[in-house]
Amino acid sequence: MIEIAVIGGGPAGLIAAREAARAGAEVVVFEEHREIGEPERCAGLLSISGLERLGFSANGRYLQNIVKGAMIKSSGGRWRVLDAGKPVAAVVSRSIFDKEAARQAEHAGAEIICGVRVKAVKRCWGEFLITASDEIYQSSWVIDAEGAGAALLRRFLGAGTEPKGWIPIIQLIVENHGLDKRFVYIYLKNYLPDFFAYLIPIDGSLGKLGVASRSPNLRELLRRFLVEEFPDARCLSASSHVIYTGSPLDSTMLFPLRFVPVGDAAGHVKATTGGGVIMGGLIAARIASAIAASLRGSSSEKLLAEARRVVEELWRIAFLRRLIGGMSSPLLDLLTAIATSRMGSLYLSKRGDMDFQASSILGSRF
Ligand SMILES: Cc1cc2nc3c(=O)[nH]c(=O)nc-3n(C[C@H](O)[C@H](O)[C@H](O)COP(=O)(O)OP(=O)(O)OC[C@H]3O[C@@H](n4cnc5c(N)ncnc54)[C@H](O)[C@@H]3O)c2cc1C
Repeated sequence: MIEIAVIGGGPAGLIAAREAARAGAEVVVFEEHREIGEPERCAGLLSISGLERLGFSANGRYLQNIVKGAMIKSSGGRWRVLDAGKPVAAVVSRSIFDKEAARQAEHAGAEIICGVRVKAVKRCWGEFLITASDEIYQSSWVIDAEGAGAALLRRFLGAGTEPKGWIPIIQLIVENHGLDKRFVYIYLKNYLPDFFAYLIPIDGSLGKLGVASRSPNLRELLRRFLVEEFPDARCLSASSHVIYTGSPLDSTMLFPLRFVPVGDAAGHVKATTGGGVIMGGLIAARIASAIAASLRGSSSEKLLAEARRVVEELWRIAFLRRLIGGMSSPLLDLLTAIATSRMGSLYLSKRGDMDFQASSILGSRF
């Protein structure tokens, strides 16, 4: 009998496994791919403060680049610069980052089984029966970290994240982007109304370029963006996936069920950027610690309250996104101008937090 079965060996599942194992729980992670971190489909832009909050070094083997701000191109073609004047974010290889998370989880005592897809989870007499490949495992708790799609969660709960919150995205690795590698680049385009396009430099030549849209012509829009902004860049590889821009599930409400979704499966993502590694990791860590505490007969209330505070921040960020999404291009441009003005930049470099975006605007802290 396993104490905690974790479905999915992405960052949320692995961080949950690490924390639960550190707190003394017996944890098994099931990952369908043969290798942790593969296939890599993420830009890997992670705040340095967030990495530290999660217990990862900003200088790990996964580090590809450090950036100090963002350059934002308005739909009218005007550049605005948001320069924190200090390193604020790391660009990481998600493949190597996830392998490091797996190493930490195993070091803490978790077992990771790769190449095994969980096909079904059933509750039976107060425990869970997990069908993975052709074997059936029993567990007391399930942490569902299966990522986007979350078919098992939908089958178990009959509900999940907001379907319209997911946006298809194509990410390319490009060569010869020709931009300053100390910034990330955001492009607001009228023909990409659902999201923005980005270029995240790996170095002075290589970069991760993403274009997201609900349009059925996403490939056509990507081609148009490349012609307009990167006519000299060469595409080395491409991947397609989805990012979440909706509201999160409050997983703490599901704690009594002992089947708790975390990470993308629960929409624990910043709706403004689609970034889910840090916030998903923070919630997963606290929920896993709360489960471990509950298994040992200790109180889990404080840890659940901490997880709920991060979920509440994600709700506020989702509200911000809805506000921004309803703005006309001139109003959005004005907002960008204010944020990138001398005063705005000064405020953001002192109080800004890439992860706790709503709190940094409202002036409160996590
Ligand atoms: C193009 C793109 C760019 C992004 N850029 C950023 C960024 O710059 N910064 C950021 O913070 N976030 C970014 N994100 C979002 C980020 O990738 C996700 O929020 C993050 O990966 C979520 O982690 P997770 O562990 O919840 O899910 P995942 O990373 O998706 O991991 C889920 C794991 O579960 C496994 N799995 C699924 N079903 C089963 C099953 N039935 N049995 C066994 N295993 C299963 C999968 O194989 C997978 O390994 C980006 C996403 C995309 C698509």
